[in-house]
Amino acid sequence: MAKTWYPIIDRDRCIACGTCIAFCKHGVYEEDGNGQPLVVAPENCVEFCRGCAKICPAEAISYFGDDENN
Ligand code: SF4
Ligand code: SF4
Repeated sequence: MAKTWYPIIDRDRCIACGTCIAFCKHGVYEEDGNGQPLVVAPENCVEFCRGCAKICPAEAISYFGDDENN
């Protein structure tokens, strides 16, 4: 099944706070060594969940599949 919803990180906006990595309980992210998230398991992202974007202080997270952000 093609994945239709997963986070996209704006690396220019991201301030490497690690909040999203700590917040997501689904293993979608891993830390990249510099504090920024890597989307390592997009298939684990819960469709229409926006939890990590809501708590990102830099508004650096949008979602593939989200028409509002395209
Ligand atoms: S949208 Fe939800 S499930 Fe997907 S990465 Fe963010 S917190 Fe995790
Ligand atoms: S919460 Fe936002 S600013 Fe913090 S690491 Fe994640 S994407 Fe970057």
